[in-house]
Amino acid sequence: MTERNTRQKETVRLVFMKMRTHPTAESVVSAVQSTDPTIGRATVYRVLASMAKHGEILKVHVADGADRFDFNNSPHSHIKCESCGAVDDVITAEPDDSIPTILDCRGYVVLKKTVLYYGLCPDCSAKEKQQ
Ligand SMILES: [Zn+2]
Ligand SMILES: [Zn+2]
Repeated sequence: MTERNTRQKETVRLVFMKMRTHPTAESVVSAVQSTDPTIGRATVYRVLASMAKHGEILKVHVADGADRFDFNNSPHSHIKCESCGAVDDVITAEPDDSIPTILDCRGYVVLKKTVLYYGLCPDCSAKEKQQ
């Protein structure tokens, strides 16, 4: 890896780690490019994929939208706003891997568990009340 690659990777890492919003790769691209416009989209995608692969960050699959990236790499649940698409953490009493308890999974081998809640974020539910 060249010195330039290493520096770009470090910039992507630092910019991402400052974001606390479960950003999509595209929003990381915008944030990175406002810091250093010479860093290309492909580089940002590659760095995020490699960090996720090494367990440094989490890739959060949200079913009907672009995957999100999460600086918090410990297992936890998420909630997605059905109106604006915002994604946030849900704090649960039990660690994620203990819920829910499967009684029958039709012979499948479970590789990972993830829970996604759907709702309205505080901004959207406030707007809804005004209408
Ligand atoms: Zn919302
Ligand atoms: Zn999270």
